[in-house]
Amino acid sequence: ESEDGDNKPVVHVEVRLYSDCTRLPLLFHTAVISWIEESVESVRYGSELRGWEELRGFQGNVERIYIEEGTSKEGDLTVQVAEADFEIHVYRPSEEEIEEFTADLDEDDDEEKVSAASVRPLPSIELDGVWDTLVYSDDIKSRLLNYIYSTVFFSESDIDFNVVAWNRVILLHGPPGTGKTSLCRALAQKILIRLSQRYTHGKLIEINSHSLFSKWFSESGKLVQKLFQNVTDMVDDDQCFVVVMIDEVESLTAARAGAMTGNEPSDALRVVNALLTQLDKLRTRKNVLVLTTSNLLGAIDEAFISRVDLQEYVPLPPPQAIYTILFSIIREMMKKGMIKHIDLPSWGLVKTLLRNEEWRESPGRSAEVGKSLAKLAEKCYSLELSGRTLRKLPVLAHTQYLTKSRSSEERPRRVERWIEAMDKYVD
Ligand code: ADP
Repeated sequence: ESEDGDNKPVVHVEVRLYSDCTRLPLLFHTAVISWIEESVESVRYGSELRGWEELRGFQGNVERIYIEEGTSKEGDLTVQVAEADFEIHVYRPSEEEIEEFTADLDEDDDEEKVSAASVRPLPSIELDGVWDTLVYSDDIKSRLLNYIYSTVFFSESDIDFNVVAWNRVILLHGPPGTGKTSLCRALAQKILIRLSQRYTHGKLIEINSHSLFSKWFSESGKLVQKLFQNVTDMVDDDQCFVVVMIDEVESLTAARAGAMTGNEPSDALRVVNALLTQLDKLRTRKNVLVLTTSNLLGAIDEAFISRVDLQEYVPLPPPQAIYTILFSIIREMMKKGMIKHIDLPSWGLVKTLLRNEEWRESPGRSAEVGKSLAKLAEKCYSLELSGRTLRKLPVLAHTQYLTKSRSSEERPRRVERWIEAMDKYVD
């Protein structure tokens, strides 16, 4: 942001190139910004931008142009081009496949392989859009992005690490099914898109703590060394940004605690210590970030917590977020023709409508649907349903209540029937 008191909102524009595009991303960068400034009047947050298809050199090279999600201060989804600053991020998703990092447990037996980690190239097509499907009612997503920006800013300024220090470790904790794992993956993808001018590619290494810390301890020590040797090699490429993800870090602690009750340091302890040592070594590298998740904050040991820079609690979704999740489910089903189209009011509108006496007497259909959806959201909230459970609701409700009519003409296509079925299922 500029320092002259100019408070324009920053709109992030993601320009996705086809993975076989060989032209310099920078070319599109300038072309997109001038096209927006000259020919576009307003843009809508969280939607694709159209009308660029005829621009010279875009056909066959640019796959889509997307305006990142966001809202204006007033909560509007539309923003006037003249009133905003634009940041353009041009990226090319990788075509490489996910690789499993396996170890032989038994050298004589090829079948006995255990996957210690998977390595996913970034940016990745599958992860595009995951960020937007995650709904939180506070600004946890922007806090995470701001932390990334801060660490990159410090790193790029070549700050003396002995004077200003940080660990590059984030911990997301909270109840199961609240989107922590998805948020880590989506954040990794976002980083690569937002920093596309600095880093041309990246890797997301998901460490499988269960297999690493559970059964095969004696092997795991060596495995951790090998794994991190790989990570270090990746980090040596300074065009590459590396995200290391450790799900359920409490299993790391459990292994340690188990070891403490015995008399001698066990294999488990060695594995955990090896991992912590390796994480410490990454601390001074510019292009690394460690993302961890846990369902049980209390069970994580001090040695790990002290290495965490940013701890975020990821709560169960409140009614507003539930409404938005259910809304997104219904919108998807309408898009695929399973439910007949109807305009649904936003949560803000439903709340205003509910307060408005006049409307209560003679509501339109769409307001009525909004109202029953809001009621369902409140009910799900009081039952402490997680985001994961909510996403399963349509299938479960269908299984239970809507399978009677098999022929396509009889299929339930009215949104009211679906909401009613989900409501019954929740009961
Ligand atoms: P966790 O790691 O916290 O157990 P996951 O990342 O595995 O949770 O989430 C499971 C699924 O639940 C995700 O695919 C996501 O679609 C859905 N989900 C969970 N929380 C939310 C949320 N706040 N908003 C939208 N979807 C959510």
